[in-house]
Amino acid sequence: MSRVRKLPDDLVSLISAGEVIENPASIVKELIENSLDAESENIEIEITDGGIKQIRVSDDGSGIHPDDCEVSIQRHSTSKISSRTDIDAIHTYGFRGEALASITSVADLSIKTRFGAFDSGNELISRQGESPILSEISRPVGTTIEVTNLFSQVPARRKHLDSVSTEGYRIHEVIMKHAIIRNDIGFRFIRDGEIIIDVPKNQSRRERVLDIWGLEIAKSLIEIDFQESNISIIGFIVRPPTSRGNRQREYFSIRKRPIEENKFSLAVESAYSTLLMTNRYPICALDIDVNVERVDANVHPTKREVRIENIDEIVKILREVVKNSLAPSADHVESSLQEYVETMEIDSTHPIEERKKELVILEEGLLSPSSTPKDEILGLGGSFRIIGQVS
Ligand code: ADP
Ligand code: MG
Repeated sequence: MSRVRKLPDDLVSLISAGEVIENPASIVKELIENSLDAESENIEIEITDGGIKQIRVSDDGSGIHPDDCEVSIQRHSTSKISSRTDIDAIHTYGFRGEALASITSVADLSIKTRFGAFDSGNELISRQGESPILSEISRPVGTTIEVTNLFSQVPARRKHLDSVSTEGYRIHEVIMKHAIIRNDIGFRFIRDGEIIIDVPKNQSRRERVLDIWGLEIAKSLIEIDFQESNISIIGFIVRPPTSRGNRQREYFSIRKRPIEENKFSLAVESAYSTLLMTNRYPICALDIDVNVERVDANVHPTKREVRIENIDEIVKILREVVKNSLAPSADHVESSLQEYVETMEIDSTHPIEERKKELVILEEGLLSPSSTPKDEILGLGGSFRIIGQVS
């Protein structure tokens, strides 16, 4: 055995990058979270060849101060925490100050940014193994980060990447997880020049689901809005029999941070109980808000898992809330809505914008029947038939 030695900085960076950057999807996740932390309203993600060749994430957030550009790509550099006590109450997606540093150790990266109060912006170019170069550019307020040549200098990692389509699909999943729960933010996802997701900011939950997952799921949505003093559970579940053959559409988030938590999946599945056939799984997106001090986000390098104090108590509430929302007495309005929608002549070539409009008008008409004459609901090109009245 050789003697113990302290590793040089570049090797330390490469090792810690291994924890944060598994694949192109983990880069996209980090960049989206940075955009959200910068209070962006719109985020655009563009990828080429499953993100292996290129990833570009643009936002209209705060931008990076000119003096912070160079430091932002150094290890343990963050604007989000500054003291020990901050760690106990993390209000942002990021806080470890590692993502950009990790990316620069396994890929080439460019940051184009303009900070709110400045007339011009900056570009920082970081190529693997070279010193970063900073220059002045003009651009709107916000930030665009571009990542190229991923793992070009780390062949062992590059070899372990999956096919372009699998890596692209993982990115799609990451974006959906954020976009479904953050219906306040506009998202655009462009894959190899093709627009895959294009949703404006400030949509209703139902509109967002319709645009991303389509009518079949949107029409079976049951909204959840449970508030108690110490916990809130907000989002939706989907009425059976609409379901999936796997757990991939069981989305959970804690304070809007997408997480994986088996206990939550099991709670929701047990609330559905016999309503779904064997090997069918619920579709849901539920955001759980508990006091920030009950959540420790500092347990996993990619923050995919968090530790939650008294999680079993939350699991119990979650199960009850889902169970009650599935009970027939709780959903006469929702089921009437579904019956109405089922009478629509659904044409698969029908433009999504039209479908979206129809659903919104229909929903409004149903939820406030006294203010919207039935004829108006019917006035949609004769696609509807009255089958009952909501009282
Ligand atoms: P962390 O998010 O943990 O702080 P990162 O390495 O992801 O660490 O980012 C480092 C810093 O760069 C952030 O703290 C933030 O100040 C800045 N930054 C990164 N991306 C953006 C962005 N899109 N908009 C504004 N600032 C950003
Ligand atoms: Mg970050």
